Amino acid sequence: MELAAQGVVPLGGGTRLLASAVELPNLLDLVGLGLSAVHVEDEDLVVGATATLQDLVESPLAYPATAGLLPLACRTAAASRTIRGMATLAGEAVQGDPDSELVAALLALNAVFTIAHPREPRESPALRFLRNPTTDLEGGGLVEKVLIPGAPHGAALERVAALPSLPPLVSVVVTTTFSGERLSRVRVATTGLTGRPARVAEAESHVERTAGDDEVLREAAELVARAAPFRADAEASAEHRRQLARVLALRALRGAVDRGRRRQPPDIPRLRPPASHRGAAPLANFTSGRLDVTANGRKLRVDAEARTSLLDLLRGAGIFGAKAGCGAGRCGACTVLLDGRAVASCLTLAVRAQGRTVLTVEGLGTSARPHVLQTVFAEEGAIGCGFCTPALLLGAKSLLDAVPNPTEDEVREALTGLCRCTGYVKPVRAVLAAASRRER
Ligand SMILES: Cc1cc2nc3c(=O)[nH]c(=O)nc-3n(C[C@H](O)[C@H](O)[C@H](O)COP(=O)(O)OP(=O)(O)OC[C@H]3O[C@@H](n4cnc5c(N)ncnc54)[C@H](O)[C@@H]3O)c2cc1C
Repeated sequence: MELAAQGVVPLGGGTRLLASAVELPNLLDLVGLGLSAVHVEDEDLVVGATATLQDLVESPLAYPATAGLLPLACRTAAASRTIRGMATLAGEAVQGDPDSELVAALLALNAVFTIAHPREPRESPALRFLRNPTTDLEGGGLVEKVLIPGAPHGAALERVAALPSLPPLVSVVVTTTFSGERLSRVRVATTGLTGRPARVAEAESHVERTAGDDEVLREAAELVARAAPFRADAEASAEHRRQLARVLALRALRGAVDRGRRRQPPDIPRLRPPASHRGAAPLANFTSGRLDVTANGRKLRVDAEARTSLLDLLRGAGIFGAKAGCGAGRCGACTVLLDGRAVASCLTLAVRAQGRTVLTVEGLGTSARPHVLQTVFAEEGAIGCGFCTPALLLGAKSLLDAVPNPTEDEVREALTGLCRCTGYVKPVRAVLAAASRRER
């Protein structure tokens, strides 16, 4: 907190900070603080500041505690599993995309932010914190945890985007809580506005204390369209966004009311068993020095600067399987497994690999003894131009290590964002073939 008060910039997953072109002289790496737990306390979900979006997708607690909304919003907000495995909930809350449906979900879930502050700790409700996080963080504040109080009965998230992986033109998030047959609490939040995502109080109060009949929901959807300040930009006019909001709000209201009325428990997908990763070992005041990293089973002692990326460290050590692509986490070609978990090595500080294990494609197999995935990728012609193949193989390996018999959907989800040049049909087929070969 003292360092943050001096202007040292806190670093969560780094997917915003390290992907930006802005030079930051000093970083305060929060990952060593042990704030990544997700647990339930007095029926409230408590999410540590450095819990990643993927931790929430894989948390069996996060589904019942949020009517399935928080894991769904994490998946929707970042399509790539690799990015979700790095980005933290706190980082998203502080500086997510201006149209982040995850920020809208935190509003609809009445999240409360616990801020550690050198002057005095404070609790800030989503309605206040998310409007302008710097107000609460000024003077050395750090988000310590996010609390989601008492589960709603129903929830829904509806969105429209130009491409599924792009931020939405508009999204609407609704949560409902019933008391008997009537709605005691309704939260409606929307994106696509002139500012950050916001709640639409007019629509909420219109539905509260009613039984949620369809006519009332239609009127509430109309209120969302009329009351929220939708934005006009190059992608859509304000009127177009308003029309989308009307349709999405009605769908979301109907979905959340229906699920809430039936007290329908959320669907929980098959979750990967927790990775046995050790987490980064804190190294105090690291400006430069020698790091010990095990790469592909070989112990490396390498010099690094504070801002050396894991990608540069590996390539400097002659390990070229991790490709240098966009340098901003977008192309996926630099993906490696850090203690078994896929990370974009261009956005991972080398210092985070201290004492840990890295696997690149060179460690997967040899020409004489290829890994089953390598054999099947060659047989199926799944190698495309080859630039992204190492990333695809590693994403597939981390899936098969955790889930030996994946469905096609699970394979597609594991490979999303790892290849930007071609179709995924053959790689998906190859991973399924490798799985069935390993099963036999
Ligand atoms: C390929 C790619 C795709 C992306 N797609 C999306 C997308 O679809 N939607 C979207 O919303 N975002 C997207 N992002 C942006 C980014 O992933 C998110 O904003 C992310 O959630 C940021 O989290 P982080 O932990 O990586 O933040 P960081 O980059 O570590 O930090 C972001 C900000 O939060 C501050 N911060 C972090 N933790 C704390 C804390 N505990 N206390 C105080 N301040 C803190 C940092 O100082 C910084 O100002 C994408 C990024 C990449 C690279």
